[in-house]
Amino acid sequence: MLNIVLFGPPGAGKGTQSQKLITHYNLVHLSTGDLLRAQITQGTELGLKAKKLMDEGLLVPDDVVIGMIGSALETNPQASGFIFDGFPRTVAQAESLDRLMAAHGTHIGCMIALEVQEEELVKRLLERGKTSNRPDDQDETKIRRRVTVYNTETAQVAGYYATQQKFHALNGIGPIEGIFGQICGLIDQHQAAVPETPAAATNGVKA
Ligand code: ADP
Repeated sequence: MLNIVLFGPPGAGKGTQSQKLITHYNLVHLSTGDLLRAQITQGTELGLKAKKLMDEGLLVPDDVVIGMIGSALETNPQASGFIFDGFPRTVAQAESLDRLMAAHGTHIGCMIALEVQEEELVKRLLERGKTSNRPDDQDETKIRRRVTVYNTETAQVAGYYATQQKFHALNGIGPIEGIFGQICGLIDQHQAAVPETPAAATNGVKA
């Protein structure tokens, strides 16, 4: 199995690159932002609570997003791998993800971080806000709060993966295809370095 965490601040291009990666590597895309917005659209109780926090640019509680990811893993038993986008956003979420992966007989292969400076992020998100219909993309104060939340709460997750030698950073500014090529280069390098063991492959055990 190939499980990738795509990391970076809001507006770094994780969603765009995820779409390309799922096609290229045949992965299932799990975006906690998309899963939460689906709950809002369905008008669930969880969605109503999450909406208030999301609209303010604040994080939704860990147990809520961890529960959603756990269910999403259960509903995709045939997947050949996952791309996690917008998750994990806290160290507690990263630890839970490791436990969930282990429970499914697999692990996170690597984490790839897209680095983009705040002024560029604000510009991109305000532009996206013109068409995305997302309240959190339409107000500069909320956008800057999301970037601050990323810098204070989420950036520590990079350290979590760095201690496991799974962290890679890339410049997220430049042509989409060029960045995609660099991400694929890192994933391919990683897969070549950690091949699936023949025993796991023949036993049908997910590596
Ligand atoms: P972006 O990366 O552009 O901020 P997302 O769609 O990933 O957009 O997330 C939108 C909002 O959803 C976040 O600001 C946060 O409120 C909530 N959210 C998404 N993922 C998580 C998560 N893993 N933990 C807590 N809150 C989350």
